[in-house]
Parts: sequence; C-alpha cells; structure tokens
Amino acid sequence: MLISNGMADLTGNLRSLGLVFPAERILTADVDLVPYSFDGTAVLSQRPSAVLLATTTDEVSRILHWANETRTPVVARGTGTGLSGGSVPTPGCVVLCLSRFDQVLELDRRNLTLLVEPGVTTQTIFDRADAIGLLYPPDPGSMKISTIGGNVANNSGGLRGLKYGVTKDYVMGFELVLPSGEVVWIGNKCVKDVAGYSLREVFIGSEGTLGIFTKILLRLLPRPAAKKTLLAVYARMEDAAETVSAIIAHPIIPCTLEFLDKMTLNCVEDYAKVGLPREAEAVLLMETDGHPAVIADEAQIMAQLARTHGALEVRVAETTEESLRLATARRSAFAALARVAPTTILEDVTVPRSELAGMVAFIQTLAHRHNLRIGIFGHMGDGNLHPTFLTNEKDADEMHRVELAFAEIVTETARRGGTITGEHGVGLAKKKFLPESVGGLNVELMRNLKRLFDPNLILNPGKMFDC
Ligand SMILES: Cc1cc2nc3c(=O)[nH]c(=O)nc-3n(C[C@H](O)[C@H](O)[C@H](O)COP(=O)(O)OP(=O)(O)OC[C@H]3O[C@@H](n4cnc5c(N)ncnc54)[C@H](O)[C@@H]3O)c2cc1C
Repeated sequence: MLISNGMADLTGNLRSLGLVFPAERILTADVDLVPYSFDGTAVLSQRPSAVLLATTTDEVSRILHWANETRTPVVARGTGTGLSGGSVPTPGCVVLCLSRFDQVLELDRRNLTLLVEPGVTTQTIFDRADAIGLLYPPDPGSMKISTIGGNVANNSGGLRGLKYGVTKDYVMGFELVLPSGEVVWIGNKCVKDVAGYSLREVFIGSEGTLGIFTKILLRLLPRPAAKKTLLAVYARMEDAAETVSAIIAHPIIPCTLEFLDKMTLNCVEDYAKVGLPREAEAVLLMETDGHPAVIADEAQIMAQLARTHGALEVRVAETTEESLRLATARRSAFAALARVAPTTILEDVTVPRSELAGMVAFIQTLAHRHNLRIGIFGHMGDGNLHPTFLTNEKDADEMHRVELAFAEIVTETARRGGTITGEHGVGLAKKKFLPESVGGLNVELMRNLKRLFDPNLILNPGKMFDC
C-alpha cells in the first residue's frame, strides 16, 4: 500500500521509477516496509512509501535523477544501526537501501588501501585487513553489522578512537552520487593532496543529506605486533578519571580507555558473565598495542598508575582469550542495558577529558533527582559518554522526566565546553540542540552548503536542521 505525501503523486512517480529501476527490487508491501521504518534510535519511526534495494552506482544515479525530477525525498540506509534517527524515513520518502551493494573491490598492498562498496560491513573490512597483517582501526560497537557507507556518513568512532582516530582519518576518497544523479570522485590514493578545498571533509559526516557514497577508498595500517589488556576496578568514578588523566600525562596513549559505571557493569555481568566485580563503582578497560617490549612496559606503568590513583584491583589479561573476554564486556554494554527495560535511549555527549568525572557525577545526581535509571559507559580516553536511559516509552510521565533530564545533560555539556554528539550524529534526535551546540551562524553555513548541493532538498530532508 502506498502512502500519499500530499506533495506529489507518489503512486504515479513510483510507476515512472519502474522504468529506470528493476521493479523486483522496489518494495511497497506494508509487511516489507515495516523493517525500514526505524533505526537503532528509540521512539522514532515512520513508514516509507517504498524501499529501493540498489546494487550499483548506475542504479543509485538513476534513482537520484528520478527523485530530483519528481521531487521525491530519498533517505539512504545502510543497515539501520544509527542512533540519531539518520535513516528513519521522512514522510513520503523512498528508502534507498545500500546493504546489498556490498563487494570488496580492491586490496592494494603497495599503497595500503582497500576499495569497497558502501554496503560492506565494518567487520568484513577489519577481517580482510587482518587476514594479511594489516589493521583497519575504526571499530564502532556495532561493527559486526554496521556498513562502511553508514560509518562514513556518520563519521563513526569506536573503542580504538583515542589512539587511532575515527572513520574520517581512514577515508582517502570516495565515489559519490549527487542529488542531481551526477557521479563524482573525490580524493585518491595520494598520501598528500592539497589541491583545492577539502571536499572530503564536507561529505564525511554529512549523514545522507548531501550525497550518496557508492565506493569508498580506505587507508590501512600495519597491524600492531601485540596487545595487552588490563581491567582496573574502582570504588570511586573520580579515581578512574584521575587514572586516565595520569596515563595521558605520563605520556602514554593507549588504544583503548573505556569505562563502565556500576549499573552498566552489573547489567553486563548478568548478560555476559565475564567476572566483573559487581560491587565496584566503576571499571576501566585499558588496552595498549604495539611492539611487545613497548607494550609490556606501558602495561606495567598503566597498572602502577591505576593503583596509585585508587584502583582496588588491577587485572592484566594473561591470554588472548581473557583479553577478548574483557573487551567483549565493554562491547556488549549497550546490548546488556537494552535487555533491562522496554525502551533504551542511548546518549552520546562528549566533554573535555578534564570534565569527565564531574559530568558523570552530574548525571548520577540527575538520575536520582528525576527518579530515572541511567547507566553510564563510554570512551573515557576521549571524553565521550553514553548515558543510557532505561525507560518505557509507554509511560508518559517517565518519558517527560527523561526529556527534562536529557535537556539538562545538554546544557551541562555546553557549560563544560562539550558537544551534543561525539560519534552518533545529529539526525533527528539531536536536531533541536544543534544551534545551541555549534551556534546559529554555523548552522546557517551548513544550510547554505545543503542548498548548494541539494537545491531541491531531496536527500534526507529535515535531518540535522530545517532548510
Ligand atoms: C549496539 C550499537 C553500538 C554502536 N556503537 C557505536 C560506536 O561505538 N561508535 C559509533 O560511532 N556509532 C555506534 N553505533 C551507531 C551506528 O552503528 C553507527 O552510526 C553506524 O555508522 C551506522 O551504520 P549503518 O550502516 O547502520 O547506517 P544507517 O543507520 O543505516 O545510516 C546512518 C546514516 O548514514 C546515512 N547513510 C547510510 N549509508 C549511506 C551512504 N552509502 N551514503 C550516504 N549516506 C548514507 C543514512 O542516511 C543515515 O543518515 C552503535 C549502534 C548500535 C546499535
């Protein structure tokens, strides 16, 4: 069944789409549209008019050309794991699903690059590199299912971000389809290139609002020879934060510095049974990678710094299996929390590292004041916190308190010099906070870019800001 959007004769438009795109890959049955009505973000959902399963650049180009002519909104989608509503359909839109556009095209060992299509999963990219002794560092918690197209569109981060950076640091170039249907290549295999404006930076993180990535050229690194994993247990969150500051000031840049608060670590323990100490107020997961001699030294120093900053216990993983088990504890945090309540709202604020302990204390007091359950975990090394509301969207009173508490978190984040999103993007979920976070003139510059590349506003309209 087709939904009329009131702006255009969608039924007629979809018929005309059938002339340029294979009809068997246009889904319009209600039962087929339901799975594309939401992403990983709680509460948001909207049924699209149709879903188009594209598998080539030429198809994407024809779809966008058609959409531009018929003024039909298009929402790109990888696997829909996004946590800001970026791939949630806008009213009357077609969803352009890219998860079947998923071939690894070229591994260039002389230039250490990998060329892939947008629907390849992050895990596949990691595995392809790993198999020949190379590393693709960005590792979002969703990497087993998220697509590289979604990662680039959201400039996703991950657990290794502190040492290795985020997705944009590994994107050397891409093929992009513009809203007009034109196809353009941006970037190349050159390590240095300052020819003209850096258009790469404009499109990476554009959340499906400026163009569609159809090929992505990634940079790989030599795989570090060894890794050591440590877990430190604390009675006070402040001590964990102090440990992080001391490690960085030493200076050591570990590849991972993650933390779980008491509520989160207990949920993880219920779920994954990895032997986390239930009575602790915080645990810090630390990993260092590199030459075996260097990491042995670093691990020893990190353990010592943890003890001198109040750790009750420091465990150093003795085997690869133990290392993996500890890392899994952190990777399963969201899934573990999501089991506890009908609705899980995962937030993504980031503050300067020096503000971390204060911010965590603020959120804990806030939870108490609003009578809410908020588990907190995140990337302590880069100040990125994930306060996670365990709630029930059917409880109107509680949802109201969640909204109030969330607004307070945003204000407090701004007061501490932070940002409303460290890695999940703005999408719909953070749209209303963008002007407060970056300033009105910044939003106006972004609007100008949107109007320049997409004058008919067909790509993901209404996301990030209104035009
Ligand atoms: C359990 C869990 C853990 C997570 N952990 C992390 C984490 O550690 N770090 C992190 O940063 N995020 C994390 N996320 C969020 C999410 O996985 C990432 O944002 C991811 O990059 C989304 O990929 P996707 O393929 O699911 O994209 P989607 O959700 O389908 O789309 C995301 C955005 O990208 C756009 N888009 C998708 N493909 C294209 C394309 N080819 N061209 C142009 N635009 C496109 C969409 O329109 C949308 O705006 C997590 C999510 C979950 C559920």
